[in-house]
Amino acid sequence: MDLQSLLTDIARETAPVLGEGKVADYIPALASVDPRRFGLALATMDGQVLGTGDWQTPFSIQSISKVFTLALVLARDGEALWDRVGREPSGNPFNSLVQLEYEKGLPRNPFINAGALVVTDRLISLRGNASTELVSFLNAEAGAGAAHVDEAVAASEAEKGHRNAALAHFLASHNRLVNPVDTVLQAYFDQCSIAMTCEGLAQAALFLANHGLRADGTRLFSRSEAKRVNSVMLTCGTYDAAGDFAYRVGLPGKSGVGGGLLAILPERGVLCAWGPALDSHGNSVAGVEALDRFTTKTGWSVF
Ligand code: GLU
Repeated sequence: MDLQSLLTDIARETAPVLGEGKVADYIPALASVDPRRFGLALATMDGQVLGTGDWQTPFSIQSISKVFTLALVLARDGEALWDRVGREPSGNPFNSLVQLEYEKGLPRNPFINAGALVVTDRLISLRGNASTELVSFLNAEAGAGAAHVDEAVAASEAEKGHRNAALAHFLASHNRLVNPVDTVLQAYFDQCSIAMTCEGLAQAALFLANHGLRADGTRLFSRSEAKRVNSVMLTCGTYDAAGDFAYRVGLPGKSGVGGGLLAILPERGVLCAWGPALDSHGNSVAGVEALDRFTTKTGWSVF
């Protein structure tokens, strides 16, 4: 299969939906991005990295960072994390406070904000500076300079982060955080503010397609842990539309409000799409469209 032509065809076919949806506007750095940008990258297990459109333009990875913090905690802590966070779809918006109250501060899964705050809290306990740890992992996998915290975005996240602060304080009120609330929030805002390209993200996530093996051939975690992260991505990775994403694309995926969308092709590679205009659930309209077309054309889904 000519993968480069395939990506180019998909980008052309996706063009009619570019601009459909709405860019996230809770901070200026996201609100000012052109909704018609589009990039698509594929990193394969045999070392090819291909792409089309804006695949080498950095964007704010936002919640895609949650995949990597989860992986880093599971790698060092194994199953103990699951005493502090569930792994069921929430059926609620990613930043909802209501469910957390009903469920006494035990977040439904690691990809809603409350769950991610708990994962970040654990990474701080394990490694000290969670965002430094995360950035160095991403750069080790995708190449030096592939990832950095955009300090201006991080400052805006903190300034506008009232809901995340509410979630963190609520978790703390149930003794679900070990580290000070402000420390956890700062690390969380930093991880959301990491800037990367489709190219870099696709390379950084190859360990998930490769049963836990990193770029240098060492093992991050077991084959089972890789399966588990992929499973949680499939069931909980695309906000309150994970069922629709699984139906359309048939791959483990994780999106972020910056318009990025990462999808794992086990034993084949990783796809990353970027289209800043989001649907009502927070997923990139163009990203989902492109990945739907990719799995339809190739038959490379997990089903
Ligand atoms: N910084 C955003 C928040 O915490 C990330 C949301 C997302 O990408 O899902 O609300």
